[in-house]
Amino acid sequence: LDAGEFRRQGRLVVDFIADYYARIDDYPVRPSVTPGFLTSKLPSTAPMTPEHDALAAALRDVRDLILPGSPRHFAHYPASSSNAGALGEALAAGLDLNPFTWAASPAATELEIVTDWLGKALHLPGRLLFAGGGGGTLMGTTCEAMLCAIVAARDAKLAVVGEERIGDLVVYCSDQTHFSFLKAARIAGIRRVNCREIPTSIQNGFELTGESVRAAVDADVAAGRVPLFLCATVGTTATAAVDPVAELGAAVEGRGVWVHVDAAYAGAACVCPEHSHVIAGAGDVADSVSTNPHKWLLANLDCCALWVARPAALVAALGTDDHVILKDADVADAVVDYKDWQVALSRRFRALKLWLVLRCHGTDGLRATVRAHMRMAAAFERMVRADERFEVPVPRRFALVCFRLVGVENEVNRRVLEAVNATGRAYMSSAIVGGMYVLRCAVGNTLTEERHMREAWSVVQEQASAVLATTGQ
Ligand code: PLP
Repeated sequence: LDAGEFRRQGRLVVDFIADYYARIDDYPVRPSVTPGFLTSKLPSTAPMTPEHDALAAALRDVRDLILPGSPRHFAHYPASSSNAGALGEALAAGLDLNPFTWAASPAATELEIVTDWLGKALHLPGRLLFAGGGGGTLMGTTCEAMLCAIVAARDAKLAVVGEERIGDLVVYCSDQTHFSFLKAARIAGIRRVNCREIPTSIQNGFELTGESVRAAVDADVAAGRVPLFLCATVGTTATAAVDPVAELGAAVEGRGVWVHVDAAYAGAACVCPEHSHVIAGAGDVADSVSTNPHKWLLANLDCCALWVARPAALVAALGTDDHVILKDADVADAVVDYKDWQVALSRRFRALKLWLVLRCHGTDGLRATVRAHMRMAAAFERMVRADERFEVPVPRRFALVCFRLVGVENEVNRRVLEAVNATGRAYMSSAIVGGMYVLRCAVGNTLTEERHMREAWSVVQEQASAVLATTGQ
């Protein structure tokens, strides 16, 4: 690491990123490429010797081959970026600290207390924060958080019922739960036949009900199985439905079921007091909650926060005692070693980025971002509702609008989406819920403005007219 060269190259990269954002509207939101377009252009092996002016050459390739466009990206829940997030990433990479144990990096480890800052900003119940006897940690994604939570729950349960009963453990979620949950359950050794995907319906807004969960748990208990884990979602992937956490907690009360709240997307909305009620129900019942600040809290990929009410359960399942990674005996009981809270040993210094984001934007800044996106989504919804060819079949939640042409086959709506995305002027996605195909417009990109919403809507209208014309409607 040569300081002078780092300064020169750093300026190149910062200028490159700044130019990219300045010209972002010039890029198509989605490249029209076919599989293999990039691999066919890349050499098949790494260069043996350093390339001449390698960084500048690589930046040219990034510009020509790799750059995405984004303010007109409405397809997925956002991976939102900010100066603070990007520079926090750079700072963390530059410092290259590894906070796997307190002894390895005391300051980087202790900075992870920023999960308490975030938890308070999101109005999480105190019992999930260090300040209240629980605690949080940062990892890459919700997929990892789910796995850690379920493994902690599994081992705690097996310690009570006996390891031989692993085949009897049952987990519960809805048919709207993100696949990461069932994937985690599979990795944790839960039998597929013991994963209950409880059906939801449009009548209850694609939310779980206490009644349906209670019935499923009661049936398993009656059959001699062992209820283990319930995953409630605040902001489902398809329609941003909100499972009623308090009601679900009451439904499994006394059954020894670990309740996890997956708030990967909508957790961010809880920064606004007017939306925090969606998680307030977790107060008395949640054993763990996870959310992705990289989705909608400007914390650039990757950053997932997992909070648990009983950190000891995580440590019991994931803790390791390796003599190479010595704990300082004098401080062992006074420190947190995050390697014992998750899968990874070596860890990225994500706390630095999140700390920077929270300091640079403040809770007010994050609220302003979330509210602005919700306003834009509401404006988009109004435009949809004003065109009688369309309907909004499920209520807009947060900054997600699900809509479709009425009175036509799912296939026609699918063709509209395909046509919209082919324009390169807007990028949306779809979901099939209750047999109904809906287009999804998720607002959340940092650079999205009202004008992008208006343009996106006129693209949808144009393409819908063209598709309908081919069907004779
Ligand atoms: N849970 C929900 C509700 C999601 O919407 C998503 C992704 O969009 C995930 C979990 C998975 O998140 P990650 O990519 O961080 O694993």
